[in-house]
Amino acid sequence: VGFSSDEHIVMLPMMAHGHLVPFLALAREIHQRKGFTITMASTPLNIQYLRSTAVSEIRLVELPFRSAEHGLPPDTENTENLPLDQLINIFRASESLEAPVRQLLSEIVEKEGRPPLCVVSDVFFGWAVRVAESMGTVNVTFATWGAYGNLAFISLWMNLPHRESESEEFTLPGLPDRIRFPISPLHQFLRMANGTDSWSRFFQPQISKSLRSLGCLCNTVEEVEPIALEWLRNYMKIPVWPIGPLLPSALLNKSSSSAGHFYKHRAGKQPGMSVEKCIKWLDLQKPDSVLYISFGSQNTISQAQMKALASGLEESGVLFIWVIRPPLGFDLRGEFKPEWLPDGFEERTREKKQGLLVKNWAPQLDILSHKSTGAFLSHCGWNSVTESLSQGVPIIGWPMAAEQAYNSKMLVEEMGVSVELTRGLQSEIRGEEVKEMIETVMGENGKGAEMRKKAAEVAERIKAAMNEEGEEKGSSIQALDNFISAVSVRGKQKEICT
Ligand code: UDP
Repeated sequence: VGFSSDEHIVMLPMMAHGHLVPFLALAREIHQRKGFTITMASTPLNIQYLRSTAVSEIRLVELPFRSAEHGLPPDTENTENLPLDQLINIFRASESLEAPVRQLLSEIVEKEGRPPLCVVSDVFFGWAVRVAESMGTVNVTFATWGAYGNLAFISLWMNLPHRESESEEFTLPGLPDRIRFPISPLHQFLRMANGTDSWSRFFQPQISKSLRSLGCLCNTVEEVEPIALEWLRNYMKIPVWPIGPLLPSALLNKSSSSAGHFYKHRAGKQPGMSVEKCIKWLDLQKPDSVLYISFGSQNTISQAQMKALASGLEESGVLFIWVIRPPLGFDLRGEFKPEWLPDGFEERTREKKQGLLVKNWAPQLDILSHKSTGAFLSHCGWNSVTESLSQGVPIIGWPMAAEQAYNSKMLVEEMGVSVELTRGLQSEIRGEEVKEMIETVMGENGKGAEMRKKAAEVAERIKAAMNEEGEEKGSSIQALDNFISAVSVRGKQKEICT
């Protein structure tokens, strides 16, 4: 089906850092490949954040929003740093965007004389299906996560409660019985969720409405999650287009290795150490010899966990770069305090040249793509997972929230590229366990070597999926074409009917 480059797509991300980033990447991808106009609409502070990333090619629209009206702290329009009991408020508040989005779409129809080609909305914005259809267009839902994590998360909320007799484990419709999920401390609300509590009352209706979308875009790769995609397609019963991973193309092509290359091209906070210093230090190390440790943009561990991690790390003697954030209970914007770590840890590891402690924020893509980085101790946020695997870097998992535990389970059980150290913000870990696991994964032989080999194979599959040269179009490039064709066919059918 032909389409012209003057088509218009409206995008509606959930107000969370981990959703805004892949939405923005998708917007850029579609704009660059197809030349379409992309309008991204969100609340004023989120739009200000997107604007700060200098995305002149994407049209950014502020939707009216007042956090106080939704029981949120002043100037809070994002999930970042919200305590669990207030987190539900931001999800519920997202429903208030329905009326302004309807208004936005009707303005577009009036100005352009036709509706946009489609609306691409977050999986939590089920209401967008009704709004898009009432404006003469269609909604496509965008799962910013992988297929397995997305399926587990959706099925979890659609099939409450999850208590099989007295068991601490449950199975999920859509996933085979052999895959059992623990009711872990990670999901406190799962113990309460029964379909009538505030979490279920938000997630169930929004997700079930999203399932009535024309299709689902998924931030994964056909050849990386073939089985999970099959399960997801069977469960959702709509087309699923794996168009990921939404990463900078230079990362996949490794066309440049200049220090700070990726950092300069990414929206990010100020790094806690100069990018050049990090890279220079990595340049001095042997291939695959450094463990990179980071728990993403939102999570932090407890002080006791931090001490256990530090002592295991020091004992192992393994080289490291650790992005250190204030532990639970401390001001997240506060200064670094040496007492978070075992006595003298910072000085000893500096003297022994064992590692770098980077305060708050590190140039993650530059670190992961460096040849000296051998493994990633990660909370298994989906962006971190795809960034790591695209570089063939195996993972030590420490999932903490959202769908991270499912990502971790898939990486361990289905892909063999990860081992799980522990889960949750309060779990007890011992330095000895940390030491053993780090030594195993960083080891030149055995399990570590096997994981590295598998991760390298996944990296190849990811690269092939994004291939645009020669005869063979990569599967993710093809999936993006298929999505555009599907929405274009739908648009043409509507024109014929009216
Ligand atoms: N990130 C970074 N430096 C840091 C921490 C995080 O550049 O010190 C980036 C990382 O590369 C990734 C994103 O922030 O793109 C984190 O997303 P993810 O889905 O892994 O986790 P979330 O922050 O949503 O929990």
